Amino acid sequence: MTTVIIVIVLVVVAVGAFLALSRGKGGAQLQAPPSAKPLQPAPRAREEAPKPVARPDHVKAPPRPGAPAPPPSPAPPAAAPPPPPSARAPSAKDVAGLRKGLAAARGGFVAKLSALFQGRKEIEPAILEQMEEVMLAGDVGPKTTQAILSRLRESLGRNELRDGDAVWAELRAEATRILSIGGGAIRMGSRPTVVLVVGVNGVGKTTTIGKLATRYKAAGKKVVLAAGDTFRAAAVQQLEVWGKRVGADVVRGKEGADPGAVAFDATNSARTAGADLLLVDTAGRLHTKVPLMDEIKKVRKTIAKAMEGAPHETLLVLDATTGQNALQQATQFKEALELTGIVLTKLDGTAKGGIVLGICDELRLPVRYVGLGERAEDLREFHSEEFVEALFGKGDEDVAAA
Ligand code: GDP
Repeated sequence: MTTVIIVIVLVVVAVGAFLALSRGKGGAQLQAPPSAKPLQPAPRAREEAPKPVARPDHVKAPPRPGAPAPPPSPAPPAAAPPPPPSARAPSAKDVAGLRKGLAAARGGFVAKLSALFQGRKEIEPAILEQMEEVMLAGDVGPKTTQAILSRLRESLGRNELRDGDAVWAELRAEATRILSIGGGAIRMGSRPTVVLVVGVNGVGKTTTIGKLATRYKAAGKKVVLAAGDTFRAAAVQQLEVWGKRVGADVVRGKEGADPGAVAFDATNSARTAGADLLLVDTAGRLHTKVPLMDEIKKVRKTIAKAMEGAPHETLLVLDATTGQNALQQATQFKEALELTGIVLTKLDGTAKGGIVLGICDELRLPVRYVGLGERAEDLREFHSEEFVEALFGKGDEDVAAA
């Protein structure tokens, strides 16, 4: 009898202890706030914890299994653009992809600069002259080269540049400072957002429009294209090919039609169709003669007549392989139009690439996208820090090799 009582008591105690333990565990899981993770977990805890997934600060942690569903997050303010294909923080993967596209420039102009400083324990002022040569040959442009060099000279005078690494770090800081004047994707604030794309023939306007259309279509946006280069049948056809490929309507006029009228019709069509984005191609000939600029100004005006506040962006496309000529084109277009940014194409095809610094520094125009090839996916949003890292980031054989 006593044995039976002892056994019963033991069983009750064991069950009680088990229940208390399991409740404690479950309660902790439910109650732990998402932010309860210590900033510096103790080594043991780190060993036991599941591997954290790297994510940008603004991305919320996914709910833990078993945790109650979080309350719905507040809707973004009405003026905030919907997350374009662009809304991503620069990551190591982005930098690696960009670096690949910039291989020619890294192996050319950047490698030459790097070779001047690599392993150098002391910096003599004469080295800045060699640096000047390389920068000019790399299409940085005389004004921007001088501006960068005079800052380096100041730092050298203050004894702040003791070795090659210090110069390289300062050069990177200068490049970041120059390039940090904006950038990034089209601001999708209106519906439709109207983007006028301008530039001389052959720089890559139509290709850029095709690439942009591909990105925004892939992000679920309704895209309309306007074939505003009515002077060239080939340009219209090229745009139609992109339209078909991407699944975007193309508004075109008869050959030789008034480009303003085409842009006007396209803006109205895009509005009626409830499109998110209208990309307007324009003619690019005779940029040195006033009539072409007048023509583009007229296109702008007619778009504004069809929709108040439009065009919301006017992007100038420049071919990076044309160096200082691109800078001259930008100067002329900037005088004639209110540009909101630059698309710098063909950066994959130049061992120079310094033009990006010249454009941002001299013209104070932000680069918004860079073209790194002919395929639809070869267009990248421009973010200064990512770009500088991809261009000047060290530790790669391709920089050291040259
Ligand atoms: P548009 O006259 O300004 O409209 O220029 P196009 O869009 O017709 O482009 C002219 C040429 O440049 C075409 O052969 C394109 O494939 C090529 N192209 C455009 N962008 C890039 C780029 O980023 N990289 C390379 N390598 N080629 C490009």
